[in-house]
Amino acid sequence: MIETLFSLRNRPQLLNLLITDYWLLITDYWPLATNHSPMKVSPSDYHLDFKNKRALVTGAGKGIGREIAVQLHGFNAQVVAVSRTESDLKALKDEIGCETIIAELAGPAEAKRAAEQAGDIDLLVNNAAIAILQPFLKTTVDAWDATMAVNLRAIVIISQVIAARMIARGVPGSIVNVSSMARFQALRDHAAYCASKAGLDQLTAVMAVELSEHGIRVNSVNPTVVLTEMGKRAWSDPAKGGPMLARIPLGRFAECEDIASVVCFLLSDAANMLNGLALPIDGGFHTT
Ligand code: NAP
Repeated sequence: MIETLFSLRNRPQLLNLLITDYWLLITDYWPLATNHSPMKVSPSDYHLDFKNKRALVTGAGKGIGREIAVQLHGFNAQVVAVSRTESDLKALKDEIGCETIIAELAGPAEAKRAAEQAGDIDLLVNNAAIAILQPFLKTTVDAWDATMAVNLRAIVIISQVIAARMIARGVPGSIVNVSSMARFQALRDHAAYCASKAGLDQLTAVMAVELSEHGIRVNSVNPTVVLTEMGKRAWSDPAKGGPMLARIPLGRFAECEDIASVVCFLLSDAANMLNGLALPIDGGFHTT
């Protein structure tokens, strides 16, 4: 029973259960804490339910982005999935019935076209990224430019289009940028990737400052290693992955589900006061 409840596939239900309990606790003790209640809350307000919300997820073809799309669908969002491999998007569409857009986000015109084609969006997850591993002394201009084009420039372009439409429609919105613990840790062979993720977190902060007045929250998440295709390339060698794993108090790398559930929480109204964060999802790595 316990195993079933906590199984990764039950994350949407479990998350709702936890949020309900959390808000029961808060509302029970709220009068003791403050007289300045900003709004009436009830536990049912904090169930994750993205009914009538359209969510755009980039890099939804594989790995973390795919799981984010699946969980958002589980929470009743209408998902628009962007990626560049058609077969991945077709498989996702067959599974969750989402809209799909094929785009190579390294090109600024393609990134803009994809965002415009997505139409009205309430929830945006900028997840697509690349990691080209090269020692600093061998980092090429091509690799640097490609990394910045996908990991940073595309996010600026897509977010500009989506946020401008939210503002024009007069609706609130929530944006989550998928950054990395590589923003905090100096990882060998990751010069361009680390720099792009550090830049992304600061971009997140500025977006949060400027978009808040329009009711749009912006946060980053900073996952530790997840053994997706990208993660395996960097960390499946025990000589590299072992020392990293040894520093994670929970004793394991993250799973895609661990990241997706936090992203869904940040997108939701339950996280209404969270803004401009760079939130580690690392099993306690940053404390060691
Ligand atoms: P992944 O397994 O490589 O999947 C990335 C997805 O993004 C794929 O569907 C890929 O499509 C798509 N994509 C990449 N470049 C694109 C482009 N130029 N245009 C359109 N789509 C593109 O990566 P992941 O591990 O799930 O990573 C997802 C996010 O988590 C990234 O932001 C990454 O930096 C971050 N992250 C990952 C880890 C980790 O250990 N895995 C840790 C921390 C943070 P194709 O397959 O068709 O190329």
